[in-house]
Amino acid sequence: MADLIQADNLVQADKVYTGGWAPPEGVVSPPLFVWPPRPRALLKWLFGLPGYFFPWNVFYVGTALLVWTFFIPEMAGMKTLEFDWIARLFAVNAVLVFVFTSAWHLRLYVQRAQDITFKYNKRWPKANSTFLFGNQHIDNIIWTMLSAVPVMTAYLAITLWAMANGLVPYVEWADHPIYLGLVMLATQVFRDVHFYCIHRLIHWPPLYRWVHSLHHKNANPGPWSGLAMHPVEHVLYFSSLLIHFVVPSNPLLVLYHLVASAFGPARDHCGFSSVVMDGKARIPAASYMHYLHHRYFEVNYGDSITPIDRWFGTWHDGSRDAHEAMKQRILKN
Ligand SMILES: [Zn+2]
Ligand SMILES: [Zn+2]
Repeated sequence: MADLIQADNLVQADKVYTGGWAPPEGVVSPPLFVWPPRPRALLKWLFGLPGYFFPWNVFYVGTALLVWTFFIPEMAGMKTLEFDWIARLFAVNAVLVFVFTSAWHLRLYVQRAQDITFKYNKRWPKANSTFLFGNQHIDNIIWTMLSAVPVMTAYLAITLWAMANGLVPYVEWADHPIYLGLVMLATQVFRDVHFYCIHRLIHWPPLYRWVHSLHHKNANPGPWSGLAMHPVEHVLYFSSLLIHFVVPSNPLLVLYHLVASAFGPARDHCGFSSVVMDGKARIPAASYMHYLHHRYFEVNYGDSITPIDRWFGTWHDGSRDAHEAMKQRILKN
């Protein structure tokens, strides 16, 4: 299997500069883990548009607040694992994932509102017998709704139940607002490192064949491909929520973490680097980094927020140098 993946890499390697949109700047890392520090650049990255907060993290926080206010029961009501409130969490998660992911799909793939402008792969997904019912879209929806949503709901329910019972200590916003703000900031850094680790694990050939190949069938991914994973991958992917059992946080941050984990993949797999609104405004969409992972497999296991792929020699920023380095690494292995 490893040989097959490598052969595929090499075949695809020759196509690196053809196809659709490639951002001229390649994959850019934020000025977060740099030495010497660049405070001005860091502030611009944190508060700029697009930046760390705007638009996506603010949107995830807003969604978490909305759900927290209107749909999550009182903590006291979650002290026992009962069907009613867990079913309600399941329904909320199902609606959130379905609406958010469908919005991307409808605009970019049904309306084709911007045709292939900023699309990384200039082709549209085609019927393919490797997918359930020979249809990538249907296959992706089935794995997302029937596996991702139950698994994420299980993690959410167990974490909130443990917090409600004091099994997991948490702190209140009124007592420790700065600390919780820092935990929120660190959440995305942690998610990046966690994803890198589980992602490398499931690229181990036996696990790749059994588990992760299901996700990689999406060589030309769309929004629904993001959470189209094998159930084992869902269990690993959403296990990042277990950090709240170790680091004291707050139920609202658990929800924010879950929303970011559920929404992030739809955006990151939508296949377009930007969504064009009204012909001019651009909303940042899929990262070039993860697109390159779907194209070349053995690079970019993480996100660009930490330099972890650089540290472990698996970084590909879209440049010719990075591409040559990847080819040499594949040949050496
Ligand atoms: Zn992916
Ligand atoms: Zn992968």
